[in-house]
Order: sequence, then structure tokens, then C-alpha cells
Amino acid sequence: MRCTICPRKCVIKPGERGFCGTRENRDGTLYSLIYGEVSASAIDPIEKKPLFHFEPGSLTFSISSVGCSFKCPWCQNYHISQVRPEDYRTVRMEPEEVVKLAEKYGCPSISITYNEPIIWLEYVEDVAKLAKARGLKIVLVTNGYISLEALDAVAGLIDAVNVDIKAFTEEFYRHYCKGTLKDVLQATEAMKEKGIHVEATNLIIPGLNDSEDEIRALCKWHYESLGPDTPLHFSRFFPCYKMAYKEPTPISTLEKARKIAVEEGLRYVYVGNLPGNPAEHTYCPSCHKVLIKRYGFEIAEWNLDEQMRCPECGTKIPIKGRFHRRGGWFPLLIY
Ligand code: SF4
Repeated sequence: MRCTICPRKCVIKPGERGFCGTRENRDGTLYSLIYGEVSASAIDPIEKKPLFHFEPGSLTFSISSVGCSFKCPWCQNYHISQVRPEDYRTVRMEPEEVVKLAEKYGCPSISITYNEPIIWLEYVEDVAKLAKARGLKIVLVTNGYISLEALDAVAGLIDAVNVDIKAFTEEFYRHYCKGTLKDVLQATEAMKEKGIHVEATNLIIPGLNDSEDEIRALCKWHYESLGPDTPLHFSRFFPCYKMAYKEPTPISTLEKARKIAVEEGLRYVYVGNLPGNPAEHTYCPSCHKVLIKRYGFEIAEWNLDEQMRCPECGTKIPIKGRFHRRGGWFPLLIY
């Protein structure tokens, strides 16, 4: 049997599983071992995905399962992404229940996140169909490793994605992730073309993917393929899993990356995992006024008008959805 969900396209013999460990050939039928198996659920700020230009200030109902199509040795969620389905205690949740909980907690969207959503695609599709019927949005936080045929099948059900671009060399993807950069880029471009709201994240790991040339190449691709208005998040690495021995990313590296991205023409470039840094804010690309002031995942100040325009110069800011005033979650903001 050949699984065609992700570009790896595993050929799976009877009694065996694919690379992600979640699909098994049982007597000539391919089974998902994680359909409806939820490893975690939470109510998160949408900014935590991170999505800064999609339904800002809203809450999202997050769910995850187990397994991954990559093997990144720095994974923050390795306890769910790098285990076999039978080795983690999940909770069975029917799609109806997920939608009900999202509504109960006032979340206008459901995020499939924490582990790789693409390998959970049949379930994601069923949740998404019900969610759409109830007016809820669907968000994927993904490594972007999806085959173009699988993407074609589900694209109409997906509203927003954050794609983690791990690095900008094939060698890095092959060596560390056991994946391919070209397929991730191709799928991300296709998502954008299909009208899905796209934001990209690049986790900068000291000594591995932090060279100026590589960051500049990533920014050039982002500009040419996703456009200057697509947000790019540079995220700070913290030691974890098999890379617990490494130092966190120096703040200067993140700031330099942001400078490169701005030089390359990107208009909305953020740094993540660095609460209190001025690069968490959205600035007007024309007059440079601070339009959205953030602290971590919280919006501290909202200065756009109803049409998402800068109040000083009228420049329209590309934001999908409306501003949701959360309030009460984070009363004390320290600058
Ligand atoms: S989802 Fe990808 S890794 Fe998993 S079995 Fe299918 S092709 Fe293989």
C-alpha cells in the first residue's frame, strides 16, 4: 500500500507502518491509528500559533494527536510527536465533541497543533466539515510536509496555517528533519495560491541555520513566493529533547534576522519566544507608527481603525478577520 498524504509516500507492507508510525497496512487496507485520538486540548490565544494577522485577539480551541512526519531533534513536543500511538494515553473525541467544546469556550476557530496535523488528515477533515457548518474557522500549525494531492482535497476546509520553515537548505532538512525543503516550499506556495491565510515561522538554532546567507535566501523566497505582506516570525530556540546541550538563540541573532528580512522588503516581520521585544509589535509599513502592541501572546494596544487602516496615514494592513478584545487574561503588562 502507498500512503499519499505527505511527500514521503511510504510504501507500507502488510502488518507494517509508515514512517510517521500512525498508518498501518492491515491485510491490504491502510488504517489511521490516531483517528479521533486526542493527546492534548487547550484554549490558546491565536497569537500563540503564531498567527498575528488572523482574527487577532481571539481564542482558539487547540487539539493534537501523536506522531510526526519529521524527526527534528529539538522538538519541544517530542513527548507526543515522537511516540507510537500505543505509547501515549490519548482521549477519544468525536468531531462533534471538538466543535461543541470550541463553541462552549467562545473560540471562533479550532487549531490542529502541537504535533503534525497533516498525518491526522482524515480526522482534521471531519472536524473541519462540522466546524464550517457551525461557522468556525480551521487553523493548522504544520511543518508544511503535505502532498499536493492531499492539499487539493482539504484546502477548501482550511482557513489559516502557520508553516514552520525549519531552515533553507536541503541538507538541513535531510539530516535533521528527515524531510525535504523543496516539498515544503511547494506546498506552502500552493496554500497561498489557494487563498489560505499563510504565516511562516523560522526557528533559529545557533550554529545550525543562523548564517546570514541562509536567512537572506529564506527571506528572498518568502518575498517572491508568498509576497511582502505575508508575516514571517523568527523564533528563539531553547534547549530541548536531543538538543538540550545547546545554548538558546542570542537575541542579537534574532534581531539581525529581522533586519535582513526588512532589507529584503518584508513588511511584517516578528520575533517570537522573546516577550517584551519591540519586534513583537506590528508597525505601519508607510509611517512606522505602532499599530498593534503585543506582549508575548497578548495584545496590549490596538490602534487600527475598523477597516484595519493606520490611523495616521491610512495604509491598509493585511489582517484577516476582526479584532477580538480578550480582556481579563493578562491584566498586568510590564514594559
Ligand atoms: S503520512 Fe507520510 S510518513 Fe506517514 S505513512 Fe503517510 S506518507 Fe508515510
